[in-house]
Amino acid sequence: MPLQKKQEYRYIPFITLSELKPRVWITLSDCNFKCRGCFSIAREPVGEPMTVGQLITLVKNAAIEYYGDTQLEEAVLTGGESTLNRHYLVDLVSHLKEFVGWIVLDTNGYFLDDAYLEELIEAGLTEVVFDLKAWDEKLHEWYTGYTNKRILANIRNAYGKVKLVVNTVYIPGIVDDSEIENIAQFLAEIDTNGEIDYRINRFRAELSPEQIARNPYPEEIARAYSIVAKYMKSAVIGKSCVREREIEVKRGWMTVFPDGTMKRRTLDDYREENKREYLPIR
Ligand code: SF4
Repeated sequence: MPLQKKQEYRYIPFITLSELKPRVWITLSDCNFKCRGCFSIAREPVGEPMTVGQLITLVKNAAIEYYGDTQLEEAVLTGGESTLNRHYLVDLVSHLKEFVGWIVLDTNGYFLDDAYLEELIEAGLTEVVFDLKAWDEKLHEWYTGYTNKRILANIRNAYGKVKLVVNTVYIPGIVDDSEIENIAQFLAEIDTNGEIDYRINRFRAELSPEQIARNPYPEEIARAYSIVAKYMKSAVIGKSCVREREIEVKRGWMTVFPDGTMKRRTLDDYREENKREYLPIR
């Protein structure tokens, strides 16, 4: 099992502000997994090393400049993998709690055991989004390099302690109907009160480092949704940033770089620029 890192900094490529409401996504780069279909620009450590204090200052200054106020409705901690440095993450959440109403952790779930989760909740965490890559353990190992046993245990443990969302990327021929059905059954068994949101995201072949599959057809996503709906009350399609874009197709997001400069970017800009600008430092 890889050890969690203990640096006092993390590499930050940028933070992102919503144009719809006072919400920030904080991208913490680097990841323990090596997903074959990863389309995150932050899988490797990219950007600038920043302490928690520097990062909080960046978020507050950007919020004042863009929203005219430091108070934010929501912060989403994403990556890469947010949980790599436990001390850093707990400290970050506790500082965000002072001016953010709702704090979301986006994670592959591997490190998020009971003690770690309790510490984060005490610091102010309100929601966890688990990215569950696959149900079958061998398939999960092939796709990520790691077993999913502890992730399933961590999801089970988190239920009832914090708002819980689970994401799976639909990958035709690899993580498709039977995998989705098994995950939905697992979640339904845990979710006695109908509180878990289960999201199906679309595989993006054009962004994947390995050509493992094509993009899913809309009818495949619709079918996956109907499979989930057999077991669960709450099945949602798509990521939060993409759902925002579907509401307001002309809007983009404000990217704020570690030096404080801002740039308005659309989803297409992110994809194009991420390929060119964010080269890994190792
Ligand atoms: S866990 Fe996320 S960031 Fe890490 S390799 Fe997998 S898809 Fe990429």
